[in-house]
Amino acid sequence: MRAAAPQGVPDRVIVVGGGLAGLRTLAELRGLGFDGELVWVGAETTPAYDRPPLSKELLSRPEPLWLAEDLGHQHTELADAVHLGRAATGLRRDGGALIVSTDAGELAADAVVAATGSEPVRPWPDAVALHSAADATHLREQVRPGRHVVIIGAGWIGAEVAGVAAGAGIRVTVLEAGSAPLWRQLGEVAGERTREWYTTAGVELRTDVIVTEVDGGTVTLDDGSTVTGDIVLSAVGVRPATGWLDGVVPTLASGHVVTDRAGATAAPGVWAVGDIAMRETLHFGAVPGGHWFAALRDPALVAADILGLPLPPAEAAPEVFSDQLGHHLEVFGRLVRDGEPGAARVLRTLDGGWSELHVSDQRLVGAVVVDAPREVAAVRKLLRGEALPRLDLALAGDPAVALRAATLP
Ligand SMILES: Cc1cc2nc3c(=O)[nH]c(=O)nc-3n(C[C@H](O)[C@H](O)[C@H](O)COP(=O)(O)OP(=O)(O)OC[C@H]3O[C@@H](n4cnc5c(N)ncnc54)[C@H](O)[C@@H]3O)c2cc1C
Repeated sequence: MRAAAPQGVPDRVIVVGGGLAGLRTLAELRGLGFDGELVWVGAETTPAYDRPPLSKELLSRPEPLWLAEDLGHQHTELADAVHLGRAATGLRRDGGALIVSTDAGELAADAVVAATGSEPVRPWPDAVALHSAADATHLREQVRPGRHVVIIGAGWIGAEVAGVAAGAGIRVTVLEAGSAPLWRQLGEVAGERTREWYTTAGVELRTDVIVTEVDGGTVTLDDGSTVTGDIVLSAVGVRPATGWLDGVVPTLASGHVVTDRAGATAAPGVWAVGDIAMRETLHFGAVPGGHWFAALRDPALVAADILGLPLPPAEAAPEVFSDQLGHHLEVFGRLVRDGEPGAARVLRTLDGGWSELHVSDQRLVGAVVVDAPREVAAVRKLLRGEALPRLDLALAGDPAVALRAATLP
């Protein structure tokens, strides 16, 4: 028999979504002392696994990296009821209760945490995608020596798979609609610096090409020309899986659910975390999910809020990592836009790598760091304080000066 919950703290919480954010929410709730009933619902039949290795270790890791092993969170010990292989199809209110409809009946709770992640955008049915462990198994069977892999999109996943396949001696062509790889994620200038990585890896990269159709292995471009391979991977982005929240929780045109800093949505009793959330951060405005660190860290805020506990005064900056074409890349905070008033970018050429610091009104607001682990540690530390640091831009531009020494009091 469980102890009665303190006033305001729910007796029964349903966490919907069987991935990293869902599992971390279970662990954080229990870690903070939640003693009520905890129910976990996930559409995939497998226990939670880590997605980043699906692309980075596509050819070398035949089994998923199970999060229970990696993080030490056993969902069977954390949750009172676990419903894997069961998808939420809707959410409604019934009196004071929230009712989650699933493809195998209804579940009632006082609080719901939506952690249903994202789904790959699939404009072309004949192209495969890489999002789940099942997708990785399928792709691994197809990506073999002697074959030609055509990848649509030079974003995170396209670049990672291109590097892995080329490293195994497989012919790869990447088709990118923008003028540089990663232009959407890093901006054109920083993205352009990654172009040579493709050349060095032996990958054919074609930018400014628009795909109009995929028919079997043949990709048609908007100038009427075609590129034919043995397999076509579409890596053109993801969209939050929020359809089941329709009518109760408002979503943006992008599909994201807007939340406050703690993950609370506009719908009382409903929190959102991980890829589906657009969370208000301390220093960087509203930041969309879609990155591993948000799914790892933000459940701590959600759990504290559900339990009525105070949030920490500081928090880590948004952070995205990628291993692609033999390089390690990290993106922190907010990247400034071209022409943004008061904004500047400072390039530091470092031993073996580089960093591009993003500055707004003399304050460091973000950074792109490549092949420079010390710089990663410095940026991470500088951006996690209660205030963003002011920089002496001349000093910051001198790579001989450690980043910390370029900050102003
Ligand atoms: C191949 C790949 C490589 C990646 N590499 C990196 C990287 O290097 N760096 C980085 O920062 N990020 C990376 N990411 C992104 C990162 O993995 C995600 O940000 C993270 O997994 C998000 O966790 P999540 O729990 O919010 O969502 P997910 O991991 O997507 O989990 C959501 C779960 O909810 C389930 N679900 C969906 N709809 C429903 C429903 N209606 N009912 C019940 N369950 C449902 C899904 O099936 C899924 O199991 C990568 C992603 C992929 C696919």
